[in-house]
Amino acid sequence: MLIDLHSHSTLSDGTRSIEEMVMAAERNGYQAFAVTDHVRYGDSAYRDVVPAMREEIERLRPQTAVQLFVGAEITDFPPPEIATIAWEVRRDGADVVVVHGECVSLDTASGTNAQAVRCPEVDILGHPGLISEEDAEAAAHHGIYLELSAIVGASYANGHVYEMARRTAASIVVDSDAHDEAGLLTPRKVAGLVRGAGGSELYLHQVQHRWAPALIDKLVRRYAMVS
Ligand SMILES: [Zn+2]
Ligand SMILES: [Zn+2]
Repeated sequence: MLIDLHSHSTLSDGTRSIEEMVMAAERNGYQAFAVTDHVRYGDSAYRDVVPAMREEIERLRPQTAVQLFVGAEITDFPPPEIATIAWEVRRDGADVVVVHGECVSLDTASGTNAQAVRCPEVDILGHPGLISEEDAEAAAHHGIYLELSAIVGASYANGHVYEMARRTAASIVVDSDAHDEAGLLTPRKVAGLVRGAGGSELYLHQVQHRWAPALIDKLVRRYAMVS
């Protein structure tokens, strides 16, 4: 199953519209796709991102066989505020909540990973960088997915993220974090990311055929409950 639950559009720092990203995802053979634009600390319009995306995703749903989700990437909020913002974006219509984690190539506040993996409203800790084993364990405990990222910079830590997930039995999701259509995933890229991070053929199979469908099920069940 080819899914991708972390990507960007012109609603934040992506260079393509949501529609262009969705059409490209369809061409790549995606089964499920979320656009998760930045809901960014210090941006006075951060509350407008999710409602604007929701409107556009709802317009596009009848036009594609790809299962579309409205998402948000909670970015650069002080760690103690993450839980409140996660609740807010959920209330405003986000189906998928990603937290912008402590990427090795960015200056994300220390403590972001620790808060994110202990917040039940969060689905995915994006680019968790050099995540501690303790935080990976908390992610496993709360059913929060750790991300292997396809983006240059974030992906430098994929081997470490894989190792922490393996040790703690946390679930892994592969995401593109694409900002244009060229950044999107293909089955070959997913295989390269998982195998390159150290995962076996069997582990790759679990990522694609066990954890991906389980995550989509979780999102759909929750969606059915609120609508
Ligand atoms: Zn990010
Ligand atoms: Zn991102």
